[in-house]
Amino acid sequence: MINKVLVVGAGLMGSGISQVIALAGIPVVLVDRAESDIERGKKIIEKSISSMRKRDKYSEDDERRIHQNIQFSTNLQDGAEADLVIEAIPENMELKKEMFRKLDAIIQPKAILASNTSSLSIAEISSATNRPENVIGMHFFSPVPLMALLEIVTSLSTASETLEAVKQFGVKINKQTVVAQDYPGFIVNRILLPMMNEAAFLVMEGTPVEDVDNAMRLGANHPIGPLKLADECGLDTTLSALETLYKDFADSKYRPCPLLKKLVESGKLGRKSGEGFYNYS
Ligand code: NAD
Repeated sequence: MINKVLVVGAGLMGSGISQVIALAGIPVVLVDRAESDIERGKKIIEKSISSMRKRDKYSEDDERRIHQNIQFSTNLQDGAEADLVIEAIPENMELKKEMFRKLDAIIQPKAILASNTSSLSIAEISSATNRPENVIGMHFFSPVPLMALLEIVTSLSTASETLEAVKQFGVKINKQTVVAQDYPGFIVNRILLPMMNEAAFLVMEGTPVEDVDNAMRLGANHPIGPLKLADECGLDTTLSALETLYKDFADSKYRPCPLLKKLVESGKLGRKSGEGFYNYS
């Protein structure tokens, strides 16, 4: 049974993850390095709560429950008794391994250690611990309070008890779960990234951006076209994820589109820079 959770990293993802856990009535300790990081995390949560209240998705009770169940801290020791740890620090293998080494030493031995990584190998992360059978991937989607999916990622060493406990926890926090193998892209990004890449190839060959997106919205019933989606994700993030697929599978079907590279080299990174496939100025 998972009765207490430690979330490490109070950024965009860690804050959202803590919010949905607290909403489900489960006590969570949210840890970051400095008070200023904690303050930023608190702001992310308050902004989300206020937008959910405005849209009548949260009641006053929900808001109270979230506040009651989140404890903020700059000390990992405050989560030493947790049954589950969810790591949400930046996407860097060395950083994550160092963190898992620390967690393995601090957190009670039976606890499950999960990573919210979107692309790194769970097997490699688990090699930094003495409990690889208790290590698993829990890939949430942004914004966490709104997105229904939780991709659970098992390595070759993950125990079936660990998977079962995380599946049940997923239900408790109101997420729909799927189980993915520990290969780059898991399920969602493995399908989404080649689609966005192929859309970029169409534009490079001369098809107008709007036509590509309209075709997929109207002909495949996608809520948003692949080029608009790439702009929202950030073209630099999209390119680097594609490069990981290309390198790790050593398969030319993931070859990043040269136009995507050109846009990134030109600083056209999508919505966040004001221009990508679309112009936002
Ligand atoms: P972010 O930069 O918003 O947050 C990372 C947080 O980790 C920051 O608050 C930082 O201060 C903190 N941190 C760094 N080192 C730390 C340490 N040693 N101890 C405690 N805290 C530390 O990043 P994010 O977008 O929330 O992404 C976090 C993870 O989630 C990454 O692995 C990312 O790939 C994954 N992810 C991101 C998204 C997304 O849409 N942003 C979606 C799914 C998964």
